Amino acid sequence: MLAQEAIAGGRTAILLKLALVRGPAIMAPAPPALPPKSSMDRYAVIGNPVAHSLSPAIHARFAAQFAERIEYVALAAPLDGFRASVERFFREGGRGANVTLPFKMEAFELAHVRSQRARESGAANFLARREDGTIAADNTDGAGLVADLRDNLGMDIEGASILMIGAGGAARGVIGPLLGEGPARLVVANRDVERGRALAARFASAGQVESCALDRIPDTAFGLVVNATSASTLGMPLALPDESIFRPGVLAYDMAYGANARAFLERAAARGARACDGLGMLVEQAAESFRLWRGRRPATREVIAELRAGRA
Ligand code: NDP
Repeated sequence: MLAQEAIAGGRTAILLKLALVRGPAIMAPAPPALPPKSSMDRYAVIGNPVAHSLSPAIHARFAAQFAERIEYVALAAPLDGFRASVERFFREGGRGANVTLPFKMEAFELAHVRSQRARESGAANFLARREDGTIAADNTDGAGLVADLRDNLGMDIEGASILMIGAGGAARGVIGPLLGEGPARLVVANRDVERGRALAARFASAGQVESCALDRIPDTAFGLVVNATSASTLGMPLALPDESIFRPGVLAYDMAYGANARAFLERAAARGARACDGLGMLVEQAAESFRLWRGRRPATREVIAELRAGRA
């Protein structure tokens, strides 16, 4: 249960919730300071598979912006050995790790303190070793999506109607921060209807959130359609009975990026929607991670452009 759900009084609860979601990462309880930066700090992205991750290239660009020397590597953890891999990494001097599929929930579980937004989502993509050796967890995916939509794509989320297709870990991580921007309505449409319903219920106190089956999407003029399914990444068909959700004035956003997102984006663009992949989100969540670890937020636009051009 979210902490705010225990607070009686709808509007008070919502306002408090939004304030918490909008604000910087709030650790609970207040964590000791992160250790001071050294000249060659070690970071990693841990996942399985992870070899093709763009995160090492992104963080190398960020560090170069500040003339900082960091080491950031991709580490593959065995599917049954995530905790051991993380513990070894930190024991050997690692300062922070991003976490990707399929370990975000395990990362949340193993942390000693968790930010508000990590607790909301029940998943963490960010770990940091604190001075006392304990591990702090956060989730920067939602901040990454919001930054890409708002700052790079010029989307006004406040007052918009949002369709979130998918109810997995990625959707869990971004719904709270999206609601923090004050949309009029957010509808979760998922193949597994019960999973979608549970996700909507999890965020019910934070805004106008509903759920539906993929073939029961309400006939609403959505301003934003987010594909948070793994269908693009897995190369699976995404069955949507009604393509009218895509129309001029809609931003259709696939969290997958590059060639994986192409089919969904072409489908949306064919109906006149503006179509964008999740590369900007990837870079923005990395920038938020870098800021939390190193205290300075790197510029992202050029990094996104370079990655798109295949130059980073
Ligand atoms: P999960 O495995 O946790 O969830 C997968 C979701 O996709 C579920 O809702 C599942 O539905 C749905 N799904 C899968 N296949 C289909 C299909 N063929 N038709 C309809 N629905 C389908 O994955 P994540 O949430 O972790 O990741 C989702 C996507 O987001 C991935 O592509 C990932 O790469 C991307 N991502 C991008 C990030 C970025 O920075 N750009 C960050 C994080 C994730 P059901 O519940 O019915 O099984």
